[in-house]
Amino acid sequence: MIFQEAILHTTDILVLGAGIVGVSTAVHLRRRGLNVVLIDRRHPGEETSFGNAGIVERNGFVPPSIPLNPAVLLEIALNQSTAVVYSPKTLVGLLPWLRAFQKNAARPGVQRHAHAVAPLRARAVAEHQDLARQANAQRFYRKSGWLHLYRTASGFADGETERHYARIFGVDYQELMEGDIPSVEPGLRTGKLWGVLWPQSESVSNPAAVTEAIWRAFIQSGGSYFIGDARALRRERGQWLLETQRTTVSAPHAVLALGPWSGALASSLGETFPVIAKRGYHLHFRPPSGESLSRPVVDMQYGFVLTPMERGIRLTTGVDFSDMDAPPRLSQIARAQMRANEIFPLGQPVEDKPWMGSRPCLPDSLPVVGPSSVVPGLWYNFGHGHSGFTLGPLTGRLIADLIVSQTPCTDIAPLHPDRFKAGQLGKGS
Ligand SMILES: Cc1cc2nc3c(=O)[nH]c(=O)nc-3n(C[C@H](O)[C@H](O)[C@H](O)COP(=O)(O)OP(=O)(O)OC[C@H]3O[C@@H](n4cnc5c(N)ncnc54)[C@H](O)[C@@H]3O)c2cc1C
Repeated sequence: MIFQEAILHTTDILVLGAGIVGVSTAVHLRRRGLNVVLIDRRHPGEETSFGNAGIVERNGFVPPSIPLNPAVLLEIALNQSTAVVYSPKTLVGLLPWLRAFQKNAARPGVQRHAHAVAPLRARAVAEHQDLARQANAQRFYRKSGWLHLYRTASGFADGETERHYARIFGVDYQELMEGDIPSVEPGLRTGKLWGVLWPQSESVSNPAAVTEAIWRAFIQSGGSYFIGDARALRRERGQWLLETQRTTVSAPHAVLALGPWSGALASSLGETFPVIAKRGYHLHFRPPSGESLSRPVVDMQYGFVLTPMERGIRLTTGVDFSDMDAPPRLSQIARAQMRANEIFPLGQPVEDKPWMGSRPCLPDSLPVVGPSSVVPGLWYNFGHGHSGFTLGPLTGRLIADLIVSQTPCTDIAPLHPDRFKAGQLGKGS
């Protein structure tokens, strides 16, 4: 008994998961004077926050969706699409989720989404800069915006909804007609290409290094970090207890920020969310001498992104609906590589095999941020989908404000954990 007490580390709050969301949460809780223990089974920033396209999006009002164009749908049905691939077995299990997802991408859903994300997008860049200053990580950031590329005039016209909301919310953009692209991004092989430049977005040259720098800032501010498995979390007499490699930690509060693993833990603690994993891949390339890009470029038709990173040009893919732990579906990145070479000379791959990660996604494409109304002392900050790198620093601030009973800087009702209880968005596992 005496021995057990000696190894017990009591603290105010546990933060489970040290991706961009968890490290940002931990820093903001420290700023508010709480004693914080951050826990991960790995070194910080080695999962989804490692491999993304590094874009901090000022825009992004239209939620992701599956295109309804018959030719595109046929390509997807034949599993020959570049933007979306799937395992048939996984897809069948996801049908109720996909129905809810597509419903949110229809007109009233788009409007609801745009108004919910507008205040988040408005603060995302400044929140990154704030944490980057504390973490001395400004060197990773580029203020060059990002470029949406369209291969057809009709594709460009379809992007009008995003521009419509940008006008409503006062976000700058520049339309680029056929022939305008070289003046903005001379490295692209232009033929028939249309584009939209979003100059207020930023990007980073190494998302993992940014996450790690924020974690170091947390440690320097007096935070503690332990390696441990969050699945061992248990509640006893009003306290959370978790055995880590070094000690058993105990706290009255815990924040669940496990990215794509969050749904499983929430469910084991008694609350289910319709959160799924949308897998994606990346591979770096070393382009021929003299060839380069100055900002992330997203191919809106084929769903891939080319981002200049420290290791080379990072090619990231669209969505793979397969079980998280199933073997990688390499056809998607192979197709993306072929399509990317049409617009930019990628050169040789830097790695032998691609990185694979999973976006934690809810059907309304918004994260879950707030307290559990089912499990006492449990807080949620997960499900950031395609925009977790963008939104992690901001939702870290928002959840920290809620925990210390401060009024958050923006309306977070659309992110409330209970929003799935009415059932309109599709309950799942
Ligand atoms: C290909 C691709 C491109 C993307 N591009 C962008 C982009 O350009 N911009 C953008 O904003 N977003 C982008 N995203 C999305 C973004 O990367 C994610 O939303 C974000 O990284 C999620 O962060 P997180 O901290 O929630 O999860 P993670 O980074 O996955 O962190 C979760 C942490 O939990 C830990 N963990 C899991 N289980 C346990 C356990 N049992 N015990 C202890 N620890 C555990 C993991 O080790 C991990 O460190 C992209 C995603 C992909 C896949």
